[in-house]
Order: sequence, then structure tokens, then C-alpha cells
Amino acid sequence: MTARRTPLLIQTAWYVLEYHRHHRCPHCTDSGWCQDVQIARTRITAWYRFRQR
Ligand SMILES: [Zn+2]
Repeated sequence: MTARRTPLLIQTAWYVLEYHRHHRCPHCTDSGWCQDVQIARTRITAWYRFRQR
């Protein structure tokens, strides 16, 4: 995936996922669930579906 063709929203979503591989953000719960990660995954999934059409 080239960054030039990727919307900033999706780049940010990737960054959120990468960040959570090693860190926690203020939204993370003790059980490891995070709203930011859920939103980022949803965005990326929707983006891939859109591009495959
Ligand atoms: Zn988090």
C-alpha cells in the first residue's frame, strides 16, 4: 500500500494500530480493549473493501 494513495484518515488508523502493539493510550482498558483500535480496524477494513471494487 502506497502512502500517497492512502487517505490521511487511513494512515492515522494504521498509526493507531502500530502504536498499540507496544503502547497503551488513555482510552485503553485494563483488559486490553480500546475504542480507538476498534475504530481504526473498522476504517481500514472499509477502506480495503472500497479499494477492491
Ligand atoms: Zn488504546
